[in-house]
Amino acid sequence: MPELPEVETVVRGLRRSVLGKTVTDIVEHRPGTVRSSYTDAEHGAITAVSRRGKYILIMTSKRRKFIIHLRMTGKLIYTDDRNSTSSHCRAAVIFADNSALIFDDVRTFGSIRIIPEESLSPQIEALGPEPLSRRFTADYLKEQAQQRKIAIKTLLLDQRVIAGLGNIYAIEILHASGIDPRQRADTLNEARFAAIVSNTKTILKKAIRLNGTTISDFRRIDEKSGSFQEFLAVYQKKTCRCGNPVEKTTISGRSTYFCAVCQR
Ligand SMILES: [Zn+2]
Repeated sequence: MPELPEVETVVRGLRRSVLGKTVTDIVEHRPGTVRSSYTDAEHGAITAVSRRGKYILIMTSKRRKFIIHLRMTGKLIYTDDRNSTSSHCRAAVIFADNSALIFDDVRTFGSIRIIPEESLSPQIEALGPEPLSRRFTADYLKEQAQQRKIAIKTLLLDQRVIAGLGNIYAIEILHASGIDPRQRADTLNEARFAAIVSNTKTILKKAIRLNGTTISDFRRIDEKSGSFQEFLAVYQKKTCRCGNPVEKTTISGRSTYFCAVCQR
């Protein structure tokens, strides 16, 4: 599932490929993929592309806002030819110059929502701070932990607490911080919250620089792969750098990898 670095990579690709282009039509191949507040598909020219958590936000000259969530397997593929398609094409945004942005999604959980720019979206309003922002501090994380008696890994995956982390990065951040993912978040001391915050920022920045992690379905907008997977320490690994076998468990329904020697 694309997480913050992968979505950020897609956003940067979109800025290069579709910024300034005028939307003339949206072709929906699977009903329900696009939910628009408008009856027409002439949404105007794309004026800005940004990210909030794992959401992609596209603004247009007609003051309309596209909110795109890739969920498990969604991909955006830019093509010069509006007639080209992809193996799991669910919708295509067509531009005036006959290029297109294909929304490809094997599992079909992804969506494109189009609403007025000024409208608030409940999912986005509910998101916690961006991990790379100044709002994400050790004090903030500690305060959030004290309100919830849950495992630290579950806390890191809660989008209301931090926006954009998913399973892979939460696992890697906890390994880098030397913390057992099963440990109750409210029992950690200040130094450990500081380590989590610092490692979160370092790991996400490095992953963005490397265009994210390519495990299965995530691809950059130009179909090239990211390369952060070369730096994964425990996710889907058999052996930790320390030589100890990596353990696999399930926390809140998600596969979790950790090293019982390095993470205590
Ligand atoms: Zn280890």
